[in-house]
Amino acid sequence: MSIAENLQQIRGRAEAACLRAGRDPREVTLIAVSKTNPASAVCEAAAAGQTDFGENKAQEMCAKQEECPKGLRWHFIGNLQRNKVKYVVGRSVLIHSVNSPQLAREIERVSAARGLISDVLLEINIADEASKHGTGETSAEELLRAAAALPHLRVRGLMAVPPPADTPEENRPYFRKMRQLQEKLKALGLPGVQLSELSMGMTGDFETAIEE
Ligand SMILES: *Cc1c(COP(=O)(O)O)cnc(C)c1O
Repeated sequence: MSIAENLQQIRGRAEAACLRAGRDPREVTLIAVSKTNPASAVCEAAAAGQTDFGENKAQEMCAKQEECPKGLRWHFIGNLQRNKVKYVVGRSVLIHSVNSPQLAREIERVSAARGLISDVLLEINIADEASKHGTGETSAEELLRAAAALPHLRVRGLMAVPPPADTPEENRPYFRKMRQLQEKLKALGLPGVQLSELSMGMTGDFETAIEE
C-alpha cells in the first residue's frame, strides 16, 4: 500500500472510532510517527496532506526538517535528555515527554533565552512500569504544579505509552485512567494550564484511545 492509501485508510478508521464515541473527528490529531523513516517518506506523506509528524531523536528531527517542506508540524515524542533540549525548543510544536521538574526547568531556561513559549505535555507512567520514563499517577500533580509555575512553558495535556498489548482492548483501562487523570488535574484550575490534549494510542490501539 502507498503512504497516501495507508493514510486514507487510517483516517477512515479514526473517523469511524470518533463516530462510535460521539466525538467530532476534528478534535483528533493524527501524528504520523516518522522516526526511523527517511525524509523522503515524510515528503510523500506531506504531499498526501499529512501535517503532523512525530520524532523521538532530537538530531534526527532537525536533520529531517532541513530536507522536508516548511510548515510541517513536528512533535517530539521520545525521551528528551536535558542536554538535547536546545535542539528541540523552537523546532517542535509540542514536546510530549516532560517527565521531571528538572526537564521542565531546562525547557523553561532555553525557551526564555530564545523568547519563546513552549507547548508541552506531561508524560505519565500510567501502568506504573519500572522500565518506563514518566511520572507516576500520584506524582503527576506535583509535576504539573512545577511546570505550571514556569512562565515559558504551556502545559497542554498529558501523554502516555501503555505496555505492549496483544489486543487493542487490553490498554483500554489505561486510556480511561488517563482521561480520569486529565479531569482530576483540570479540576485543580491552575492558571495558564489548559490540559485539553491527551497524546495516546499507537498503530495497534489508536481506535481504542480515540474512543476513550
Ligand atoms: C514509536 C512511537 C510511536 C509509534 O508507534 P507505532 O506502533 O509505530 O504506531 C508512538 N508513540 C511513541 C511515544 C513512540 O515512541
